[in-house]
Amino acid sequence: NRPPRLHRDFMMTGACSLQSAPIRVMQWNILAQALGEGKDGFVRCPMEALNWSERKYLILEEILTYKPDVLCLQEVDHYFDTFQPVLASLGYQSSFCPKPCSPCLDVHNNNGPDGCALFFNRRRFQLLHTAHLRLSAMMLKTNQVAIVATLRCRFTGRVFCVAVTHLKARSGWEAFRSAQGAHLLQQLCELTTQSHTEMDDENRTRVGETKDGIPLVVCGDFNAEPSEEVYRRFMTSPLGLDSAYKCLSEDGNTEPPYTSWKIRPSGESRSTLDYIWYSERAFQVDAVLKIPSEEQIGPDRLPSYHYPSDHLSLVCDLSFSQKPHRFM
Ligand code: NDP
Ligand code: CA
Repeated sequence: NRPPRLHRDFMMTGACSLQSAPIRVMQWNILAQALGEGKDGFVRCPMEALNWSERKYLILEEILTYKPDVLCLQEVDHYFDTFQPVLASLGYQSSFCPKPCSPCLDVHNNNGPDGCALFFNRRRFQLLHTAHLRLSAMMLKTNQVAIVATLRCRFTGRVFCVAVTHLKARSGWEAFRSAQGAHLLQQLCELTTQSHTEMDDENRTRVGETKDGIPLVVCGDFNAEPSEEVYRRFMTSPLGLDSAYKCLSEDGNTEPPYTSWKIRPSGESRSTLDYIWYSERAFQVDAVLKIPSEEQIGPDRLPSYHYPSDHLSLVCDLSFSQKPHRFM
């Protein structure tokens, strides 16, 4: 007799999609099993609420409630035994990139390293290219990774790139996160402008790739509030990215008040850390899944018996703007 799951509605932005079906994108740090049980110290979450044998169904239920076309996860330490096989049986193709020195490996009885995982609906998209990146900061290799996949819609022929990442956590590491973000942006710039499919200009325009590069979606736990430099870097990059969740705010320009809310021995932490970035010129946001209220989250915050992670899932519907733009 668990409490009911959090009910969340979509906010429709009013942007009327003339396209067929929008692309539903989900971003979620699912909380690594080993970290949740062995490292995080969520003092207001009962240990029984973290049992993998039950928690895994809450994670899968959350994913299947929204049935995303593209699913970007962080802190995945049950890829091979759970998410890959279960989601493959439901029509998802996927890729997993473990962290080189995952903190999960320090935990007794761990299930292997955690990492980023990217899933997509294989009936809808064909995989053209995958890159696994180890992020650098100030020329040095770091423990953070990203996956970048180039997908082609089997129905429209449109091509786009989707990236998933999880930047370095904790305060005091703001400059490090910013450097990781700079490296990721530079890699994304290269991956979206070099053509993996030898295309002439006419073909390039038809599939939606422009002289500005392949349209891009970047999902991540950036571990950074919007006030941080790495956020500003993404907001102002030459890739022309915007953040989907700003649509929820009244002025259309403000991130949600929180995407993660937890209580550790050090105290309560309520912060906006997770983002879905998209190429502003290529996509419009049709709908965004609302953030649950403080009352819905409850006094013990997250994770809990009714929500399996300390981070909320972000879900939005993106559709291609009417015509592939072409700037000459
Ligand atoms: P990060 O600092 O990025 O954090 C790792 C994880 O810890 C994140 O998933 C983060 O979650 C979570 N976290 C954030 N804040 C806290 C907190 N206050 N208490 C508990 N957990 C928190 O780690 P790195 O990837 O840079 O790795 C550093 C760690 O890796 C070291 O602490 C060490 O334990 C381990 N390590 C392991 C090695 C090995 O071979 N096994 C070698 C070297 C290091 P979120 O993103 O949700 O905030
Ligand atoms: Ca975490």
